Amino acid sequence: MQLSRNFTLEELTATTTGFLNRPDSDEINRLAELALHILQPIRERWGRIRITSGFRSPSVNSAVGGVSTSQHCFGEAADFAPLDAPIDEVFSWIVKDSGLQFGQCINERRGERRWVHVSLPGDGRRIMEALVYDGKSYARFVG
Ligand SMILES: [Zn+2]
Repeated sequence: MQLSRNFTLEELTATTTGFLNRPDSDEINRLAELALHILQPIRERWGRIRITSGFRSPSVNSAVGGVSTSQHCFGEAADFAPLDAPIDEVFSWIVKDSGLQFGQCINERRGERRWVHVSLPGDGRRIMEALVYDGKSYARFVG
């Protein structure tokens, strides 16, 4: 199912954990909003991005070590890696220049793996929160 020009429900629900990962209709609507209003503009500015984690059912989320309050569980967040542009530039653009209304945007790394977590404002608890995660702790991004 196509959610926006370049993003499908399939890639936003893909998992290698082997667990069932099927969003309900509310969660699909949120994934569509995420694809349309956040991921698509990033794609249009920076070229291809690979989604490494989108929606997570409770079992998928615990299998990947996610916290239970994760916005991934509500269809409100995606992790991605840009394929055609430096990750730091993409991150910095999202938080400083894009004008995108995100909830949280986190430049994350764990060992050699790097990705950007981006979410919808959701229930409004997190608005335009820019963070950096170094594999151990979160810090406020000061660009
Ligand atoms: Zn994430």
